[in-house]
Amino acid sequence: AGTLYVVATPIGHLGDLSVRALETLRTVDAICAEDTRHTRQLLSHFGLERPLLALHEHNEDAQAASLVRRLAEGESLALVSDAGTPLVSDPGYRLVRAARAAGLRVSPVPGACAAIAALSVAGLPSDRFVFEGFLPAKGAARRDRLARLVSEPRTLLFYESGHRIEDSLADMAAAFGPERPAVLARELTKLFETVLGETLGELVEQVGADPNQRKGEFVVMVQGAGEDADARISEGRRVYATLSTHLP
Ligand code: SAM
Repeated sequence: AGTLYVVATPIGHLGDLSVRALETLRTVDAICAEDTRHTRQLLSHFGLERPLLALHEHNEDAQAASLVRRLAEGESLALVSDAGTPLVSDPGYRLVRAARAAGLRVSPVPGACAAIAALSVAGLPSDRFVFEGFLPAKGAARRDRLARLVSEPRTLLFYESGHRIEDSLADMAAAFGPERPAVLARELTKLFETVLGETLGELVEQVGADPNQRKGEFVVMVQGAGEDADARISEGRRVYATLSTHLP
């Protein structure tokens, strides 16, 4: 049987496509791509031409069975997404699950991932972290999700796009407090790469003041609730308990 290679592609800078990724894309029988036009451009940049199959959110379930059949018959396939590592806020997990369930070999060709690249330059605690992906688009659902993360002690990582970055930062500052340490990574490995921030309050201000800081692709990282935060909350409760005995 063939192998399903899960191949990471660049998140901006094309130089980040690994030597092994190139070799894999050159030699597989076909490449499953989220957007075939996008992947064709990447391949042509490297002088490669391979058959492409569309595999996106809407057809993944339907396609998985026939792809598993092709693997079982001995073809090797690569899975790529538009940017970075497939399955990380990108399609692919249903295909990988089906291939593994059929006893087929699934092998990673690792490379760029925006979340990990961002974490590596943020200077926030990184021994334990939580990847939250995209927050809900609707305000109420987003605030609800954030409310449930308020006392999470691990560093939080979120993906965000240009049209929601301002709203998301404002909601984060409201939920976690403006003093909470946070870092915003924008357009990593690209021309306008920017890494900003000390606190959520500062990020709200900086992004609000400069429309250029709202353009592109973002990773928002928020330090977890520390002992400080816990201490402040219990201090608040203590003060409230004392006061409440004096209130009517
Ligand atoms: N699979 C990709 C990965 O491994 O990072 C993520 C795909 S997800 C659909 C796209 C989101 O990833 C963007 O909205 C942004 O939050 C983040 N992202 C992708 N490229 C980025 C970059 N160069 N700089 C900052 N964030 C990026």
